[in-house]
Amino acid sequence: MTKDRIRGYCPRCGHDQIFEKGHIHHGVHLFLAVITLGIWLVSWASIYFYHQLRPWRCQQCGWNKPLPRSSRESSSMAEQSRSEG
Ligand SMILES: [Zn+2]
Repeated sequence: MTKDRIRGYCPRCGHDQIFEKGHIHHGVHLFLAVITLGIWLVSWASIYFYHQLRPWRCQQCGWNKPLPRSSRESSSMAEQSRSEG
């Protein structure tokens, strides 16, 4: 069983972090739905839809909105040297 991982920028941590994709244990939810006579289906559905919207989680802080990395750092240090003659 492999966990999906991506690398993205975490605005909470302030730098790049590893984001892991969580997994829903459908067997557990099915069991809970049976013993609660179907009431748990509401929670199961909400968890499922939330997971579809925000599948990623920061390993450090749990932030669920990774931003794409800013691959290019443009250093705009235009030095204008004047030579006095
Ligand atoms: Zn983070």
